[in-house]
Amino acid sequence: MTTEYTLPPLPYAYDALQPVIDAETMRLHHDLHHKAYVDGANETQKALAAMRESGDFKAIQALERKLAFHASGHLLHSLFWTNMAPPGSGGAPSKELEQALVASFGSADKLKAQLSAAATTVEGNGWGMLAFSLPDHALTVLQVENHQKQALWSVVPLLVCDVWEHAYYLKYQNKRADFVRSWWGIVNWQDVSSRYAAASAMVAAAR
Ligand code: MN
Repeated sequence: MTTEYTLPPLPYAYDALQPVIDAETMRLHHDLHHKAYVDGANETQKALAAMRESGDFKAIQALERKLAFHASGHLLHSLFWTNMAPPGSGGAPSKELEQALVASFGSADKLKAQLSAAATTVEGNGWGMLAFSLPDHALTVLQVENHQKQALWSVVPLLVCDVWEHAYYLKYQNKRADFVRSWWGIVNWQDVSSRYAAASAMVAAAR
């Protein structure tokens, strides 16, 4: 058995996030970049299955690395698309999420400041992430390199900001901080709030 990954359709049109993200960037980002991670993850799963079949694990290091890179890339992009909504339509954090933001960061504005700083300063390609930590039931900000490095185990990602150059370069060139600042205007807080509710329910069920 191997996992089969599929490219999810965008939940809106290519131009829906304008003027924050232009249609051409969305088309290239979803149709080519995200698809490459889906294909890469599927190819890697097939190679791992063939490896198990043959019993020859010589290439295991390279394949485990590829799996972490491509499967994480697929997961993060799938999350990223639903984390965004056309300008003015993303709503606000739910009461429960708002309370959790206050408890973990002091305020929603402090979360925004920390996540913006983390995203803006990733060395090279990466992501800023708001995540729910299952063991301590708290929200935390991660600065992710590539798709999979500087991860913390046992977190549920809730909100991610892609700061690979392919995410913003056509419109913002080297001004990543400007992109991150504008990006807050298209955050889908309804999506983030429902992800927070699902993650907290998981913890409540396990108690
Ligand atoms: Mn990307």
